[in-house]
Amino acid sequence: MDKVDADLAEGERLKGCRHCSGKLHRANYKRKPRGVESWPDTPKRYSFCCDQEGCRRRHTPPSVRFLGRRVYGGVVAVLIPAMAHGLKPERVAHIRQALDLKIDRRTLERWRQWWLGVFVESAFWKEARARFMPPLCPKRLPLSLCLSFEIEDRRDRLLELLKFLCPITTPEVWQELVR
Ligand SMILES: [Zn+2]
Repeated sequence: MDKVDADLAEGERLKGCRHCSGKLHRANYKRKPRGVESWPDTPKRYSFCCDQEGCRRRHTPPSVRFLGRRVYGGVVAVLIPAMAHGLKPERVAHIRQALDLKIDRRTLERWRQWWLGVFVESAFWKEARARFMPPLCPKRLPLSLCLSFEIEDRRDRLLELLKFLCPITTPEVWQELVR
């Protein structure tokens, strides 16, 4: 997943500054995810700053590992509420173990509420949902999304799901999704 983030970051860097003609320089965030007690190593979120004096604006590319500034693993946000809602426990346990995740109940419930409320109402979802045929049941999110991407059957499908969600992970878009 770090590889995917590195590619997304490179794409952002090549575009240059959105506000002026400046070049983008690396200025990564280093943050410890909240709600996750342990992580294999402290994850870095790729980020850039414009090199022009008087602009210096920050650009944070989409990510499959992070959601907004609050920095939860993308996997956490997708999988853990789905698990509580019926994804095969052994499959999720495997992923959870591999990532060494320990998530408390409050975090879990908060995420479930987020999927059912803010996410369903988001401009991103209102547009993206049209791609799914048959339509996904919004009340069963994120499980219905996980099942649609068939993440239980093939490991690489999880990455596809995270890529699908990555437009919402930039701080600008994410801000609209946190109320
Ligand atoms: Zn600039």
